[in-house]
Amino acid sequence: MPAPGGALLGFADGTCRIAGWEEARALFRSGDVLIANTAFVAGRLRTTPAKPLIDVLELFAFVRPAVPFVPSALGVARAFGLATETSPDAAAPVVRQSAERLLEELREFPPAERSRLRPLAGLLAGAGWRWGPLVVDAVGEADSKSSALAALAAWNGLPEWEDEAPPAKPSSVPVGSEETRLRLARLIGEAGEVRLEQRAYAEAATHAFGTRQHVGAPRVALLEAGTGVGKTLGYLAPSSLWAEKNGPGLWLSTYTRNLQRQIVQEIARLYPDPAERDEKAVVRKGRENYLCLLNFEDAVRRNALAPGQRVVALGLLARWIAASADGDVSGAGFPSFLASSFPVREITDRRGECIYSACPHYRVCFIERVVRRSRRAPIVVANHALIIAQAAQDWSGGEGGETAAERRVRYVFDEGHHLFDAADSGFSARLCGREMAELRRWIRGAEGRARSRHRGLEERLRDMISGDAEARIHLDRAIAAAAALAGEGAVGRIVNAGVRNAGEVFLAAIWQHVRARSADADPLYSLEAETQPLGEELQAAAEDLRESLEAIARPLLVLAGSLRKKMDVEAKDLEPGERVRLEAAARGLERRAKQLLPAWIAMLASLGGARDNEFVDWFEIERDEGRDVDVGLRRHWIDPTIPLSSDVLAPAHGVLITSATLRDPESGADDWQSAEVRTGAHHLAEPPRRASFGSPFRYAEQARIFIVRDIERRDPTALATAYRELFLAAGGGALGLFTSVRMLRSVEERIAAPLAEAGLTLYAQHVDRLDTGTLVDLFRAEENACVLGTDALRDGVDVPGRSLRLVAFDKVPWPRPTILHKARRARFGRFYDDLLTRLRLKQAFGRLIRSQTDRGCFVILEPATPSRLLGALPPETPVNRCGIAEAIAEVKSFLA
Ligand code: SF4
Repeated sequence: MPAPGGALLGFADGTCRIAGWEEARALFRSGDVLIANTAFVAGRLRTTPAKPLIDVLELFAFVRPAVPFVPSALGVARAFGLATETSPDAAAPVVRQSAERLLEELREFPPAERSRLRPLAGLLAGAGWRWGPLVVDAVGEADSKSSALAALAAWNGLPEWEDEAPPAKPSSVPVGSEETRLRLARLIGEAGEVRLEQRAYAEAATHAFGTRQHVGAPRVALLEAGTGVGKTLGYLAPSSLWAEKNGPGLWLSTYTRNLQRQIVQEIARLYPDPAERDEKAVVRKGRENYLCLLNFEDAVRRNALAPGQRVVALGLLARWIAASADGDVSGAGFPSFLASSFPVREITDRRGECIYSACPHYRVCFIERVVRRSRRAPIVVANHALIIAQAAQDWSGGEGGETAAERRVRYVFDEGHHLFDAADSGFSARLCGREMAELRRWIRGAEGRARSRHRGLEERLRDMISGDAEARIHLDRAIAAAAALAGEGAVGRIVNAGVRNAGEVFLAAIWQHVRARSADADPLYSLEAETQPLGEELQAAAEDLRESLEAIARPLLVLAGSLRKKMDVEAKDLEPGERVRLEAAARGLERRAKQLLPAWIAMLASLGGARDNEFVDWFEIERDEGRDVDVGLRRHWIDPTIPLSSDVLAPAHGVLITSATLRDPESGADDWQSAEVRTGAHHLAEPPRRASFGSPFRYAEQARIFIVRDIERRDPTALATAYRELFLAAGGGALGLFTSVRMLRSVEERIAAPLAEAGLTLYAQHVDRLDTGTLVDLFRAEENACVLGTDALRDGVDVPGRSLRLVAFDKVPWPRPTILHKARRARFGRFYDDLLTRLRLKQAFGRLIRSQTDRGCFVILEPATPSRLLGALPPETPVNRCGIAEAIAEVKSFLA
């Protein structure tokens, strides 16, 4: 395990010792060491594995597939109740015991189960899996040798989904206050107590579950509820009643996956029987979050015969597939630590290549199952991005051929302060190398070496258009025209002047334009440049590409028409599965011909013509770790709540938007104005019902705010010293937030060792090779860990209890001065910077105090923090502008 100065080695007799960096790296590279989480340990030791390691997480994934656990030594040890302390040091000696328990568990599997596992265990042992011999020993050797394909064929034996008639449309029976009170009392149960604020909140929420009176005028409630009001149960009371009375059509939406999990846990109070709960409530994510069995089969066929880590990863994935209830690769039970040997994008349906009923796994497909379940379930737990993506498709009939208005939906948007950003991303457009390559692949299939994998239009449509000569001509035209799109590896060709079609010529001209006009200040961030004035070369390239895109859109549209005609003419003879497939194929073609390509064409046209004042366009070179990874033209709505209100909110019958951070009390006389501007409620025909509910917490006693006056922030040593001493004073449980990746890394480098000496683990975004969700899970699991991060971590951390007791900002989190932000500030006014910054501070502060017993300190290491920015924080919280020494002493004594 990573430790101060190297790694902590645990021995079979329960003793431990510290190995220096060199010894630790040598041991790691030898492969003869038992570890937990190869990618994480490799990152900490700043090395890469020379050969496969004995990773206990892999054994866990084999023995307990799809069982959620935190992917660390501590997480595994805890799964066996072997580590009662929260420090990783306590876990190191018990990793070996955890592995022994797992092997013991495997030996005790029922005989039929062990027999079933033998071919897979044999295959993995043969592929060089370090656990292979022990696992074979535990389950026994297979009587006869089966093929690798048979051992990995996890698609066999999965339960089939059942087709049912579409559910009836939801009715409009309203929910009353009295029944809401009773439901809330039932949800809280006898052990709890309904607080007045929570009851008032639940009653206010009933507004969104009344009967809509006018088309396009949903009943909207904007409810701000301070932390601790109990808003989840507060809105579950009326919304679950509405769902029971009216049928399917309730969508509960969150921004973070942690809140999604929390809602599912709360729903269990209503439906304690798991079978009933499965029927009543479904978690629904975007298609790209579910495993595609056909892609998995493709991966098996391409890799099964090659020994090595990819086969091991496929074997563990096969175990997970057989055990997973829903195929959700972003869920808690997915072995995400395998990503370094097998990228998850290879086994999901990210590119819209699904062939529906023509797929041999259609009847057992995870995605098809969850889509069907969510159509029937009274309650769907989703996320903002999915709802916005669905709304964006509603122009063509949406999912199941119905628009949101036809489905008569009710939405509850929890974490409503993120709606603006979700809409900003969901309604934006990007004409770049990656997107062009994706469309090219969707049309032409895999080209070059990866020939077997991606299915192009030819393979997907061939049988559907057989005998239709005109459709055939247009299919050929579309395939030929798509050769003008940038392909895989375009960025390399742009940089090396080797472009080969209209798409790449356009991207190369953008690259020159941006390089010439943008200051290359920090290679860790992307570069951008305004589109005007436009050079002649770029203008000509844009014109060429526009004509090429039109040549792609035309045949796609004709093809969609041919499929629709076939559905019409052969209506009587089509099997339901065939109809679904034709419908999906036609929609896929229309989405590209009527939505994606026209959006790109309009962006190109406006480069040389009249600009649309609702949008801001800019050129960008996207960079990762100083490398150029993509180039393109971007377009965002200046006010993304315009499409949010017209496409998502207005078609619904009722909408509840709630958060602890909706209003900005400092932004004007009407402090609800900021909430309406950020949620799009001000664009609606009828005004929303608005109410706020104060937090029950005693911030004067539970929290402290410090503004440090004597830090030279640009001095990394001074900043690192401040973070180190603050974290030590808090005894861990600290979140350090940064506005710059470079500064984060420089602080991490300086404080990781001294914190480890003090027994505090430090995790860091942009340093540890882990995704943000895993990082937060690791941080949450240890009471005294510390974590450093930037924006994504600030928004994603939801850590109740003592695990989070100190939040420290390196500086005031002003918005980055991007071209998009400049346009928004011009639209919304000068107050916009302050508004965003106050809301960010308010949101981060809200993470600190989550219960009546929590205590927390909030520190900003910027002397010039304007007092007006603190106006969004609870006014009763004491604010101390002081030197760093005093802040450290105060933090220590307050959190003692
Ligand atoms: S039906 Fe589509 S998503 Fe499902 S397994 Fe087949 S190709 Fe993949």
